[in-house]
Amino acid sequence: MTTTRRIIFTTRGIPTSDGAGVKLTRMLGTQQLPDLDPFLMLDHFRSGNADDYIAGFPDHPHRGFETVTIMKEGRMRHRDSRGNEGVVAPGGIQWMTTGRGLIHSEMPEQAEGRMSGFQLWVNLPASKEMIEPEWHDHPAETVPVEKREGGTVRVLAGSTKEGRQGPGRSAGDTDIRLLDVKLEPGATFEERLPEEHNAFLAVYGGSVTGLAEGEPQPEVSDPAIAVLSQGEEVRVQAGPDGAEFLLVAGRPIREPIARHGPFVMNSQHELRQAFEDFQNGRLG
Ligand code: MN
Repeated sequence: MTTTRRIIFTTRGIPTSDGAGVKLTRMLGTQQLPDLDPFLMLDHFRSGNADDYIAGFPDHPHRGFETVTIMKEGRMRHRDSRGNEGVVAPGGIQWMTTGRGLIHSEMPEQAEGRMSGFQLWVNLPASKEMIEPEWHDHPAETVPVEKREGGTVRVLAGSTKEGRQGPGRSAGDTDIRLLDVKLEPGATFEERLPEEHNAFLAVYGGSVTGLAEGEPQPEVSDPAIAVLSQGEEVRVQAGPDGAEFLLVAGRPIREPIARHGPFVMNSQHELRQAFEDFQNGRLG
C-alpha cells in the first residue's frame, strides 16, 4: 500500500531583514523550525516597494553549504569572488555550492517594481563541505514545464513521477527535488517522493489541504510552510483561490550542524576556523 505523507507541522515564518536591510520572511531557519535536514533555511522575499529590497545583499562570505535562489518576479545580480557573475531572472534559479568558501553579493537589478522569490540553503555532508565552489545558472527556458490536470509543475531540480528532470543539482548526495507548482481552484496534485526524504511545501499563493487518509488535514494558506511526514507520495488539493507552492524534498544527511550566520559546518572548531579564514582573507 502506498503511504501518503501527512502535514505534521505548519509555520508562517517570521518577518525579518537581512543583507543591508532587505525585508523578507524567514520560513525555515527560525526558532519554530530551525532546520529540516538537509535544508537549513528558506527566505521568502516579496514586495512591490523598492525600499524593501533596494539595499540588497552586499559582499558577504559563505562556507559549507549550497544556496539556491529562485526568482518569481524581478531580477537580482549575483557576483562572487571567483569571478562568477549573472542575473537571476523570473522563472530561473541559481545554484551555488559555496564549498570551502567565497565572498558573494546579491543586488537588485531594478530600482522599482515587484521583486519576489526565495533563497533556499541546502546543507552539504562533511565529506563535501570543503570542496571547490561551483556556480550554475539555470534560466527559465531550461526549466521543464509539466502540464498536469488542473495545474502546471515547473521542474527546478530532481525528477517527477512523469520522468521529467529539472536542471538544478546538488553537489552533495542529497538528491534534491524542487518543484514549483501552480493549481487551479479545487485541483488535486500528486507526486512520488523517495520514502525517507524530508519534505515540505512552501505555500506562496492561495491554499492547499492535505489529502492523506485518516484524520482531516489542515488547510495551509499563503504564506506558510507545511512539513510533511515520511511516505511515498504527496497528495494535496488546492483551495477556492487555487494554490501556488514549492515542493522541496531531499535525503537527510544526519550529521551534527554547527552554524553561525553565513557559515554552516559540523563542529564549533570548524566554525571558528571558517571565521578565522574569513578574517585573514582566505575565503574566495
Ligand atoms: Mn549569499
